[in-house]
Amino acid sequence: MSDSNINMVAPPEGVVGEGFFATKLNDVVGLARANSLWPLPFATSCCGIEFMATMASHYDLARFGSERVSFSPRQADMLMVMGTISKKMGPILRQVYEQMAEPRWVIAVGACASSGGIFDTYSVLQGIDKVIPVDVYVPGCPPRPEQIVDGVMKLQELVRTESVRRRSSPEYQELLASYNIK
Ligand code: SF4
Repeated sequence: MSDSNINMVAPPEGVVGEGFFATKLNDVVGLARANSLWPLPFATSCCGIEFMATMASHYDLARFGSERVSFSPRQADMLMVMGTISKKMGPILRQVYEQMAEPRWVIAVGACASSGGIFDTYSVLQGIDKVIPVDVYVPGCPPRPEQIVDGVMKLQELVRTESVRRRSSPEYQELLASYNIK
């Protein structure tokens, strides 16, 4: 691959001088976090197949720094929930979320994870936001890999602009408390 094919991430705004570059800590942390999101795929059905395509060479999620898929919640910061989540599965999903270290983000991929999809039945959770907070919803049944990539890019934007203090803010604590998560 020639150098011309490599796109560099734009640096944050700052002051440039000879031998130095000054910017805000928030911007640097946001830039680093947004370009190194490690996914934890929580795939239960068909949307998981679209995720496989998203990871494969054609769509190549590695372009966004997200090639390192983790099946350990401790080493992941982007929980991607893909598929129908039954009510029995709800507490397990929640446990996985609780095991992830802060900062952590969640993408609900597809109609089932976002709202229960076509399964408006007694046994299916009508959206994972009934048990954990969600940052980005990706529509579709199933969403195409382009839509999943778009969801990751939307999340990157949120991560890039998130304050480093957000996780200790009263609003965030209130959000977790509303889910009874400590
Ligand atoms: S949204 Fe559609 S494709 Fe995705 S898990 Fe549900 S039924 Fe399957």
